[in-house]
Amino acid sequence: MSYNIQNWELIQSNKNTGTAKLKCPACTDTRKNKQDRSLYVNFNSGIGKCFNDGCNALFFRDSIEKSIVNDNYVLPSQEWHNYTNLSDALVKYFEERKINQYTLKKFNITEERFYQPAHNKEVNNVVFNYFEGDVLVNKKYRSGDKKFTQSKSGKPIFYNINSIIGEEEAYIVEGEIDVLSFDEIGVYNVISIPNGANDNDNYWINSEKYLNGIKKFYIATDNDASGNNVAEKIAQRLGRYRCERIIFDGKDANEDLKAGVLRTTYRNCKKYPVSGSFTTEDLIDKMMDLYNQGLPNCIEVKNPAFGGLNGIFKLMYGHLVVGTGIPSHGKSNFTEWLVLNYLLENDVKASFFSPEHQPMELHMSTFVQKVIGKNYFFEIDGTPRCSKIELMQFHQWANQKLYLTSPENGEFANWDWIFEKFKEQIYSFGINIFVIDAWNKVEFTGNKTERENITRTLSRLTQFAQQNNVLIIVIAHPTKMKKEDGVYERPTLYDVSGSADFRNQTHDGYCIYRYFGDDGYTTFTNLKTKYSFQGEIGESIEYDYHKPSGRYYPKGGRPQTESLLQKNETPIEIETAPFPMIALEDVKTVFDNDLPFNTNNDETDQVPF
Ligand SMILES: [Zn+2]
Repeated sequence: MSYNIQNWELIQSNKNTGTAKLKCPACTDTRKNKQDRSLYVNFNSGIGKCFNDGCNALFFRDSIEKSIVNDNYVLPSQEWHNYTNLSDALVKYFEERKINQYTLKKFNITEERFYQPAHNKEVNNVVFNYFEGDVLVNKKYRSGDKKFTQSKSGKPIFYNINSIIGEEEAYIVEGEIDVLSFDEIGVYNVISIPNGANDNDNYWINSEKYLNGIKKFYIATDNDASGNNVAEKIAQRLGRYRCERIIFDGKDANEDLKAGVLRTTYRNCKKYPVSGSFTTEDLIDKMMDLYNQGLPNCIEVKNPAFGGLNGIFKLMYGHLVVGTGIPSHGKSNFTEWLVLNYLLENDVKASFFSPEHQPMELHMSTFVQKVIGKNYFFEIDGTPRCSKIELMQFHQWANQKLYLTSPENGEFANWDWIFEKFKEQIYSFGINIFVIDAWNKVEFTGNKTERENITRTLSRLTQFAQQNNVLIIVIAHPTKMKKEDGVYERPTLYDVSGSADFRNQTHDGYCIYRYFGDDGYTTFTNLKTKYSFQGEIGESIEYDYHKPSGRYYPKGGRPQTESLLQKNETPIEIETAPFPMIALEDVKTVFDNDLPFNTNNDETDQVPF
């Protein structure tokens, strides 16, 4: 594809926000219809595209080269033209996949010898060149036996990102060949996630300005377990309300292209359920699942340190939860301990907005203590201090899993800011759990009464949780509690300052209450669960507190002191190993010879390409 990149300064408009349809400075002079507004411009994102066939000009306000330097990426050599002669073996390989040579040229597919870590040497590769505008920002190398590597420190971005500029709809697939497959049937607004079924934050952030103008996404990842899993994560980030899932007959778009059915199957869509209006037709699959599998999934906590908590209180995604308790009774502590265990046991991410817990590194140290089981600063009561290695293990685990939210420059956050931030975080990071600690640290805007503000904010939170299928936990202080025999009463949701709506408008609620003294302990009480299968309202569980780590454990039991990361069976994922690579030892024995496309002996045909 040769791109017709034009200078942003040529765009004539007084606007600098929103979108506009304008006359194209690149082609209007040469056209019969000089009034045609073929140029779409999105001023928020700083991108534009002319939809006049034969012009197809692209406009970028911000320099792509500059973004690469600013974010410490490395620009690959731009001399891709030197490698565009494709070998017969490679062309044949694609022909068998029903991708013709014209399409390979159109996508600037190249063929290069390059070091494949899996082979520990240079081999021949098909190269998928990742363009942003006309800048080659990354290269993905695929060897004949399906090993992958990419440019060192290239900019992670969706493949074929230019194709969706100015579009209202976009298709998202799981591999470059699926993009080419869609192109073969005349569907061009198609992008591919860059690393197979991996879901890293960085390519989402780098692609954001191209995606945020799109009204509808068709998620066309592979028709298998990992494809379904990544589809869920994509829908989570983009917002279910604007996503539909495409179900192929075969494994992916290329299989359906080969079978000659892609033209039909790419229209085979299913909506993601969000709150709104639904017919039983929309719901029948889910109804059947419910019938077959029984009651919906609650989030159960598996760590035995929670004792019988699952029996009295279980949470669900899509819910707004209020946690309350008298100041210094441990409601933040317990909530964080619970959420950390959700993170350890499930493939989910959480964001904490806790302006009272500053500075942020100090707040993080309390998370480290709970996860590692040791104090951050001291040896306490025979429990050693957490080591630097353990700190780094925590970092590896928590990076891209645990996020802190904080307004910068000491600003005071208001609810509009919080909702904007949450939307952003769902998109950029794929967050599933939000904790707001505490309610009274967020300001109302506008001039309504406090009561009206509370009602409105709680219903916005409920709606947000439902629409995005996220769990929102709000920590809220009670009004000043009455004392009986010198001891404060245990608060209920009606005692949360401001309004009975904390009882009425939230799905679930709990109270953390601490009994002080030598044999002091803490209780967790279910104040409300929306559905009866979630637990027993009014029931409590008693816990002791492990001071060195800040963990809770069943009253009278033994504290759990080992690191939860060692117990955790899922391997710690090390960030940005962009493509799967196999161990060198395995490689050397299996692949002795140079495989790929351009060897000329007869054995070539035995090899994939
Ligand atoms: Zn034009």
